[in-house]
Amino acid sequence: MQYISTRDRTLQFSAAQAIAKGLSEDGGLLTPAYLPKLPRRALEDLKDMSYQQRAVYVMKLFLDEFSVKELTDFANAAYGPEKFDTPAVAPVRKVNGNTYCLELWHGPTCAFKDMALQMLPHLLTASLKKQEEEKTVCILVATSGDTGKGALEGFKDVEHTKILVFYPKDGVSAVQELQMVTQEGENVGVCAVHGNFDDAQTGVKKLFSDLKLREELAERGYFLSSANSINWGRVLPQIVYYISAYCDLLRDGQIQAGEAINVCVPTGNFGNILAAYYAKDMGVPIHNLICASNQNNVLTDFLNTGIYDRNRTFYQTMSPSMDILISSNLERLLLAITQEDTEVQSYMSQLAETGRYQVSDKVREKIQKQFYGFCCDDQETQKVIHTIYDQYDYLIDTHTAVAFSALEQYRTKTGDQTKTVIASTASPFKFCDNVLTALGVTEQAQGLDLLDQLSKVTGQPVPAPLAALRTKTPRFSQVVEKGQMVDAVQEMLK
Ligand SMILES: *Cc1c(COP(=O)(O)O)cnc(C)c1O
Repeated sequence: MQYISTRDRTLQFSAAQAIAKGLSEDGGLLTPAYLPKLPRRALEDLKDMSYQQRAVYVMKLFLDEFSVKELTDFANAAYGPEKFDTPAVAPVRKVNGNTYCLELWHGPTCAFKDMALQMLPHLLTASLKKQEEEKTVCILVATSGDTGKGALEGFKDVEHTKILVFYPKDGVSAVQELQMVTQEGENVGVCAVHGNFDDAQTGVKKLFSDLKLREELAERGYFLSSANSINWGRVLPQIVYYISAYCDLLRDGQIQAGEAINVCVPTGNFGNILAAYYAKDMGVPIHNLICASNQNNVLTDFLNTGIYDRNRTFYQTMSPSMDILISSNLERLLLAITQEDTEVQSYMSQLAETGRYQVSDKVREKIQKQFYGFCCDDQETQKVIHTIYDQYDYLIDTHTAVAFSALEQYRTKTGDQTKTVIASTASPFKFCDNVLTALGVTEQAQGLDLLDQLSKVTGQPVPAPLAALRTKTPRFSQVVEKGQMVDAVQEMLK
């Protein structure tokens, strides 16, 4: 299968090249030239397979240079019992008559980023080998919390890789910071930056475009790469779990073969919901896709009006992983809908120049046929956590709560009661303080004691990777100014 740039079809690459490159040289995103269709009996066949087997089956459709044996090894390593606390890997839990949660947080960092970041290192190192690249890859990541820890866990002690994560000193939660600074592994580095997430992100982008640094590193046998969500190696593993969720519903008799479901996804960069769209396009009976946003509702507005406009106030919310104003992966949807690389290129250059673009009426109508956007604020988010816990004895995190709110708004607006799978993206224990407040607990413990408090209040066990933080000693304490990030890289690679 060929991969192309979303902005220029004539730039073509193999799967291994696409994964190794991460981003096309014209700034476009590397994307399959066409989407494979699931063979007719695929869902029936997949329904009795393990999650790992389903992953191999789906990924093989996109990665013809990789053998089934290779992909099987990757899937077993990425989704095995040392990594995930349930053999189902991504279990589907029934909440009520027509609402299901696809729990994507049973991995080592308790957030859905694990689903892709446990697989990416295998895909990336194998892709480099196929291209006879002998240098060590140095992954640089700027994180607002979940991606950094997910990438550290995924890449820790992976041969021929180094990983260095930058996070904003005051921009991550206490649990998230502890998760990162206690990270184990010989090839990892973690460094705080004075400033906010944008400062860290801008700093990392500067490192990537620092030619002098690149040359120096090349001489020492390193090259730079990235693990952020525009890499195809992160989108592909996400398609698997939507197909897997449909198969679970079939297997458990919750739906009939061919019955359509809706999917509702709490969205930031548009990567997760894009994977659901791809699953639909490949032939999974998915009716509508419901895109849930917090107060940073740039996508809700886009889906309603066809205008994408990032010139607006940025809000810090209690669902921080969705605090995003540029949803990079939307570009891939635009290519899928328009099939016109030149049209995508034109929207993206308008976005770069003015922060805004408007799609044609035809494109807007096509998108609106299958996507619905809804948003809610923090107050509503907390209300939803409380209600869902009261009514169904089911505890959800702040991001998943935004999706529950969007689904309710969708059902009220359309009257559509189709069975719906909500992507549940993080363990509530990652956001103890806001979850406890939502449950009405005003007197709160400090630091990691919050984990036990939430456990006591709800009777649910603290996830093992978070409980283990107590016994870990911080290994990293470096804080740099944003102008000094290059020194941190040099230090790490000494
Ligand atoms: C990253 C993240 C999201 C947003 O996912 P996108 O792929 O960026 O849309 C939602 N919830 C949680 C908990 C996350 O970590």
